[in-house]
Amino acid sequence: MKVDLHSHSTYSDGILSPEVLVERALQRGVDMLALTDHDEVGGLSAAGKAAAVWGLRLINGVEISVQWESVTLHVLGLCIDPGHAPLAEGLAGIRSGREQRAQRIAASLADAGIADSLEGARRYAKNPDLVSRAHFARYLVEAGHARDTNAVFRSYLTPGKPGYVPHQWAGLPEALSWIAGSGGLAVLAHPGRYPLNQQQCERLLGEFVALGGAAVEVVSGSHAPDEFVTWARYARRFGLRASAGSDFHGPGESYRDVGNVPALPAGCTPVWSDF
Ligand code: AMP
Ligand code: MN
Ligand code: MN
Ligand code: MN
Repeated sequence: MKVDLHSHSTYSDGILSPEVLVERALQRGVDMLALTDHDEVGGLSAAGKAAAVWGLRLINGVEISVQWESVTLHVLGLCIDPGHAPLAEGLAGIRSGREQRAQRIAASLADAGIADSLEGARRYAKNPDLVSRAHFARYLVEAGHARDTNAVFRSYLTPGKPGYVPHQWAGLPEALSWIAGSGGLAVLAHPGRYPLNQQQCERLLGEFVALGGAAVEVVSGSHAPDEFVTWARYARRFGLRASAGSDFHGPGESYRDVGNVPALPAGCTPVWSDF
């Protein structure tokens, strides 16, 4: 069975609509797909309808932005109920903070000599409620400041660089309570991407387990193959299940296409084994 439990649509910073994403997943042989837009569940209904037509199993998901100590983390909620009020309200709260953040990002870029970036980013954001750094990155490429979006993040929009604005996202306990309250499972997304040393990783995983977290994303478009093994070991040590997802955002933009998800290392318990 081909499983991909991490993907994005135009409801956040993906390039494809939920319907086109589902169609692409189907064409690429995916049997089970989770749509996990950033802080937003609006695409799930259209994705679910398209998936039902084609007989693809759509998992209702979300990727919640979390502030933990001094780092921004992403926590996936899988098999959530998007109608659960505390989850819906919590996500609405995070999205509302994004507007002011986008204005501050644009002001910081303007200080660095890059004008009109908010208007530019907004042109890429199909969901006006969700302007992300990925939309700014696309505009910076368009305006000739970098050759692709990966290159943008080396010079802009990240800590210490123009266009970076610290932001208070959800707390980890809050995000996990919204996910659990809605009947979902919490998965720590692409843990290899965070600037944490081993001791900090252990503290994070300890807290994550204590708060009821279910799994670690072991196989991810953000991980190199040797990191699959590292995070499989952490998962086993902390009694967490393992998840796998491409983190596909769009053709030509993401390292892994939808469904391009290598097998979990031996010894992992797949988080989807009892879906
Ligand atoms: P935001 O939620 O607005 O902070 O935007 C985060 C999004 O920007 C991520 O989900 C990615 O889509 C993109 N992003 C962040 N850092 C990088 C990076 N180093 N390389 C490529 N894309 C990135
Ligand atoms: Mn993204
Ligand atoms: Mn992420
Ligand atoms: Mn993602």
